[in-house]
Amino acid sequence: MALENMSQMLRKAQQNKYAVGAFNILDYNSTKAVVKAAEETHSPVIIQTSAKTVIFWGTSAIMTWVRELAESSPVPIALHLDHCKDLDLIRQCIEAGWTSVMIDASARPFEENLALSRQVVEMARPRGITVEAELGAIVGVEDDIHVKEQDAHLADPEQAVRFCSEVEPDCFAPAVGTAHGVYTGEPKIAYDRIEDISARTGVPLALHGGTGLSDEVFRKCISLGCAKVNISTQLKYAFINGFVTYHTKNSTEYNPLKVIGAQFDELKRGIVEKIKLFGGYED
Ligand SMILES: [Zn+2]
Repeated sequence: MALENMSQMLRKAQQNKYAVGAFNILDYNSTKAVVKAAEETHSPVIIQTSAKTVIFWGTSAIMTWVRELAESSPVPIALHLDHCKDLDLIRQCIEAGWTSVMIDASARPFEENLALSRQVVEMARPRGITVEAELGAIVGVEDDIHVKEQDAHLADPEQAVRFCSEVEPDCFAPAVGTAHGVYTGEPKIAYDRIEDISARTGVPLALHGGTGLSDEVFRKCISLGCAKVNISTQLKYAFINGFVTYHTKNSTEYNPLKVIGAQFDELKRGIVEKIKLFGGYED
């Protein structure tokens, strides 16, 4: 199928109380693992790229892998740019064929965040590109965005309502207590806020910082209105561990294709597990 944007898949997920997994890819092998995991579970999926990954490979290389895999695939696939502060990069991705983008102006004062996010919606919507926007500060490190614990703050529900009615994002990422990276303690998720913001805005919510949350936490967040779940750190670990574990076990063998195969299996296994947990899949 041709790539699609996030609109239909998230609305459907929101209505049926499941979530679409958004997985941050690193290269062709990890992109293929995401697509094959979605095919195995007959699920829609969001291929997500960090701004850093886009800068590392360039838009055309990524677009070639994604098109090649998506066009021969029977499941709905969106290509989404994760956390981006840079309007030029957003524009480049839109022009290259990304079907969805995230503007992350959450570090700016509220009014500026609102204006910038709105500007991205105005740029993207006429071209059929969906937009995710963020409010509040999600703790941790994502790409080149560092948020220290003392600077993290949850999204204010009153502001969230105004933000969503003026920006009209297709997907909304309010900070609700999850964190990017690896959790060191038990995360304190503001479930009441997820429920409140979801009910009052009606916009499908994105849950960031998904890696490391328990199955129970995921299920609860999804039942309250999170229709998109971001998984990034898990793929970074599987990418390295899949590779290293194989080589450690077969240290005299220098067959790169076998190592790449082991890495693919490790990535896909974890992605399938998450898609099944998020619901909305078929055996
Ligand atoms: Zn994030």
